[in-house]
Amino acid sequence: MQTRPRVVLLGKQGAGKGTQAVRLADHYSIAHLSTGDLFRAQAKQGTAFGLEAKRYMDGGDLVPDEIVFGVIEECLAPGGQLSDGFVLDGFPRTRAQAEELERVLGDRPIDVVVHIDVPREVVVERLSARRVCVKNSGHIYSVAKPPSQGWVCDTCGGDVIQREDDTPEAINKRLDTYERDTRPIREFYASSGRPLVTIDGLGDTDEVFARICSAIDATL
Ligand code: AMP
Repeated sequence: MQTRPRVVLLGKQGAGKGTQAVRLADHYSIAHLSTGDLFRAQAKQGTAFGLEAKRYMDGGDLVPDEIVFGVIEECLAPGGQLSDGFVLDGFPRTRAQAEELERVLGDRPIDVVVHIDVPREVVVERLSARRVCVKNSGHIYSVAKPPSQGWVCDTCGGDVIQREDDTPEAINKRLDTYERDTRPIREFYASSGRPLVTIDGLGDTDEVFARICSAIDATL
């Protein structure tokens, strides 16, 4: 029997990682972990950890690695949410996180790293128009593609809003952080021998999804 894939999605904010991760999780019957969704859910519940993370998120800064590691180790532990196949969306975001992930996964490493490539000017436009479900169900809309019944999620009925860090100032700061801290992860994976595939992230979401699936299927 084929094992379920272990996939990392890389790409700028607004490249479509969240949208594609939800579809991939369904298609391959794998778990989906978005560290951003997880932090927002914790912040909404008002846990100490969530409120600490929110301080960084609202300003467009990365949450410190030590805080992120605690969460990830729990999810990746045997019997945890990510103990079989998974798609990671928004993690790793620094080289230290990528190294930690390799260490925690041990002898069942990532099968493929998919980089969704979209130019900066396109993601700035997408993020400014993006609207998300507050229930953190991962459902993403936009001003151009709103839900069918007002600003209420078609799938779970949650309110659909603009994220607090989707302001022009925070968007630019997050994209600068991506260039500085996250882009170098691609070189890390290339040099560590993990299959790394770059996908054109422009075009219809169905087309992009088909490109990603072909890349994943080719590695299984
Ligand atoms: P996202 O929903 O992936 O755009 O993440 C929203 C915010 O959560 C980011 O701007 C960071 O502040 C924080 N965040 C999410 N994932 C990570 C991570 N792996 N490392 C550090 N900060 C993160």
